[in-house]
Amino acid sequence: MPDTTPPANGRTDRFVRGAGVYDSPEHERFRTALRRFLATELVPHLAEWEAQREVPRWVWRRFGELGYLCPWLEEEYGGSGGDFTHSVIVMEEMALAGVDVEVSLHSDIIAPYIHQFGTPEQKRRWLPGCASGETLLAIAMTEPDAGSDLAAIRTRAVKDGNDYIIDGSKTFISNGAHCDLVIVACRTDSEGPAHKGITLIAVENGAPGFTKGRKLNKLGHHTHGTAELFFESCRVPQTNRIGAEGRGFYYMMRQLQRERLVAAIGSQVNAEAMFELTLQYVKARQAFGQPIGRFQYIAFKMAEMETEIELGRTFLNDLIRDFLHGTDITRKVSMAKWWIAEMANRVAYQCTQLHGGYGYMEEYEITRRFRNVRMDTIAAGTTEIMKMILAKGLGLQ
Ligand SMILES: Cc1cc2nc3c(=O)[nH]c(=O)nc-3n(C[C@H](O)[C@H](O)[C@H](O)COP(=O)(O)OP(=O)(O)OC[C@H]3O[C@@H](n4cnc5c(N)ncnc54)[C@H](O)[C@@H]3O)c2cc1C
Repeated sequence: MPDTTPPANGRTDRFVRGAGVYDSPEHERFRTALRRFLATELVPHLAEWEAQREVPRWVWRRFGELGYLCPWLEEEYGGSGGDFTHSVIVMEEMALAGVDVEVSLHSDIIAPYIHQFGTPEQKRRWLPGCASGETLLAIAMTEPDAGSDLAAIRTRAVKDGNDYIIDGSKTFISNGAHCDLVIVACRTDSEGPAHKGITLIAVENGAPGFTKGRKLNKLGHHTHGTAELFFESCRVPQTNRIGAEGRGFYYMMRQLQRERLVAAIGSQVNAEAMFELTLQYVKARQAFGQPIGRFQYIAFKMAEMETEIELGRTFLNDLIRDFLHGTDITRKVSMAKWWIAEMANRVAYQCTQLHGGYGYMEEYEITRRFRNVRMDTIAAGTTEIMKMILAKGLGLQ
C-alpha cells in the first residue's frame, strides 16, 4: 500500500516550525512517525470521540507504548530519554491533526511537578505509569470562588497522624473525570500571607473521601473530561505531599511559565491549521463565477492573517529557544500567552466567516477549532492576568 502520510513539516510548511533547534534529521523522523500514527490510528475516530465526549483509555496507552507521553523523561522512569523538543513536536503535530487529547497537560505540565519536586520514591512510584499511560494526571488549582486569584483558595489540608485530611472542592479540572492521580493545591496554613500557606498534595483515585463530580458541559474541548472534584475528609498519607509544605504557590508560579508556553504553542499551531484549512477552502469555493479567494477583500484578509500568524510564529520560535537555553521567560511568555491566544481567536473568527454556512456545521473541522480556541484566552492565566504581570514588570502596578 502506498504511504499516504503527509511529509514531516519541520522545515517545509509555510510557517516554519523547529526554531532551528528541533528540526534535526532525528527530530524529523520522530515527527514523521508521530504524524503517521495520528493520521492512521486516531484521526479516523475524532468525530466519534467528539460525539461521545470521551476518548477511550486505549488511546492513552497507545501514546505511552509509542513513547509519546513524557518523551523527555529518563529511561530509568520508563521514559524514552528525549527532551522538551520532542514534547513540542508532539504538541504541534497533535494540534495540526486536530487530535484533542490532553497529552501536553499530562506530559508537559503535570508530570514535571512530580519530576522536579517529588521525592525519589514518588518518582519511582508514579512516573513509569505517567509514561506508559496507566496513570493519567490532572492538576486541581481552581475552585468555584478562586481562579485568577490562586492565593485565595480555600481547600484545606490538616495533619492527622501520618496523614493529611483534605476538605474542599475544585472545578474546571481537565482530565478530572478520568484521572488516576490529581495534584491538589491545598491550604495548610491560614496564618500569614495567603500565598505562603499553600501545599501541593497528590491524591490517588480511590482515596477515601475523594469523589469526581459531573463532567462539565462546555463550549468546546468536549474530549477533555473536564470535571469538578470533591474532597470530604479525604485521607491521604503525608508521603503524598509534593515538595515542601507551604511552597505550593511558588511551585505553581514556576511551573505556570512552562504551562503558558505549552498554551501558546497550542494556540499558534491551531491558528496555522485554521489558516491552511481556509486557504484551501477559499481556493475551491466558487461564488459569482470564481473562487472566493480571488475577491480582493478575501485575498487581503488571507494576507492579513498570514502576517499575524507569521509574527506569532517568529516570536514563539524565539521563546522556545529561550526556554531551551534556560533563560527566564516570564516576561516574554506572558506576552506570547495573551497575544497568540487573542490572535488565534481573531483568526478563528475570520476563518469561520470565510467558510460561510459550512463554518457553522459540526462536520467541518473549522467549526470544532473555532469552539476550542475560545478557551485559550481564559485557561492557564487569562489575557488580563498576563497583562497584569507585564504591567507589574513596568512598575505600573
Ligand atoms: C476548559 C478549561 C479547562 C481548565 N482546566 C483547568 C485545570 O486543569 N486545572 C485548574 O486548576 N484550572 C483549570 N481551569 C481554570 C482556569 O485556569 C480558570 O478558569 C482561569 O484561571 C480563570 O479563573 P476564573 O474562571 O475563576 O475567572 P476569574 O478569576 O473569576 O476571572 C473572571 C474575569 O475577571 C478577570 N480578572 C480577574 N482578576 C483580574 C484583575 N486583577 N484585573 C483585571 N481582570 C481580572 C479575568 O481575566 C476574567 O476575565 C480551566 C478552565 C477552563 C475554561
